[in-house]
Amino acid sequence: MQTITILGATGSIGVSTLDVIQRHPDKYRVFALTGHTQIEKLLNQAQSCAARYVVISDESAYQKAVEYAATLSEFHSEILCGSQALEDVASASEVDAVMAAIVGAAGLMPTLAAVRAGKKVLLANKEALVMSGALFIEAAKQSNATILPIDSEHNAIFQCLPHNYEYGNFAASGIHSILLTGSGGAFRTRELSTFADITVDEACSHPNWDMGRKITVDSATMMNKGLEFIEACWLFGAKPNDISVVIHPQSTIHSMVQYIDGSVIAQLGNPDMRTPIAHGMAFPTRIEAGVDYLDFATVASFDFDTPCFERYPCLKLAIDACADGQCATTRLNAANEVAVEAFLKKRIKFTQISQVNEETLNLLEPIRVSSLQQILEQDRRAREVAHEVIRGLS
Ligand code: NAD
Ligand code: MG
Repeated sequence: MQTITILGATGSIGVSTLDVIQRHPDKYRVFALTGHTQIEKLLNQAQSCAARYVVISDESAYQKAVEYAATLSEFHSEILCGSQALEDVASASEVDAVMAAIVGAAGLMPTLAAVRAGKKVLLANKEALVMSGALFIEAAKQSNATILPIDSEHNAIFQCLPHNYEYGNFAASGIHSILLTGSGGAFRTRELSTFADITVDEACSHPNWDMGRKITVDSATMMNKGLEFIEACWLFGAKPNDISVVIHPQSTIHSMVQYIDGSVIAQLGNPDMRTPIAHGMAFPTRIEAGVDYLDFATVASFDFDTPCFERYPCLKLAIDACADGQCATTRLNAANEVAVEAFLKKRIKFTQISQVNEETLNLLEPIRVSSLQQILEQDRRAREVAHEVIRGLS
């Protein structure tokens, strides 16, 4: 029996994780669920999986949660609130595994708390590694934490690498490169001259995956692939030159590893996050995930393409930031969170997301960061600058 905390239980990954858990009540029990503002959803989830704790990260929603809990007949979870409580349920001694599925930089501190406590960390949140990759990997080494990638591409790469893969040592395993696949998002074939007219609804509907709004917009700009590029470097000890981005519109191949003898190993499946979630939860064994098996009689075709940076300027910004280092990746991630939020609030155009990101990076002098404090300071500073850039646009 494994005891799990789900950080970000009310989100798309959180809901899929609970779905997998409910299929295997003999194997998993829930210690804590966390959510930000969707209080009723969170408390209903806690009630149905008998979570010991619920944590509400938005302190202003706490009172509402207590009042709602009083209306539920069988509610036995203890309600906690605030950022320290998030870290506490991620690192509690009773917990074996932590699903890190808070979106954005807000996921960094509780995920790091789980890593430092030596947990099995099911890593969906990619922004934590984008911001603090070096610290994060070092902390996992120190505490003996196991990081299992849940992002579908990284989970696929993990499955395609040899079992005895030595971190960062491509040569020892005969690896030539990582082929990071991406669908190309909602606007892969849209006329470029119409990009400034893209609406929020259009950007929030993904052709293959059902995900949260921020990552869906990031998929449309391919910033998501850019963040995943950086994430892959840290997770597998790869260098930017070791990774190629391949557009694969069907999202059936979730990524590949190319070996020096010319072999390519790919991981395939229907695009459903319950597969990588179940893989991470059960690793090194396998469990059923509730996902339909791939039917090759109905898979029409596999197409591939090379991303064009004119269509996807955010992808280029991320690949360049990856080469520049952690200060640049932290700033880019922060600027992008601010820009995407402004786009979702209809304050800027779709095409201005990359503009805000690029101008924010250009307005800040490059520096070296190594401590967590410096990283958080660069995150804060880049948000400030991104807000200024947005004010200048409107
Ligand atoms: P989502 O928007 O559906 O859910 C986000 C969760 O984070 C919610 O539970 C929300 O309550 C919580 N949250 C939001 N702001 C918070 C804050 N300030 N403090 C604490 N909690 C906060 O997002 P999602 O699609 O489930 O994605 C979650 C993470 O997983 C992201 O980092 C995303 O990049 C990554 N990911 C998602 C998918 C997917 O298919 N959805 C795939 C790969 C990776
Ligand atoms: Mg992904």
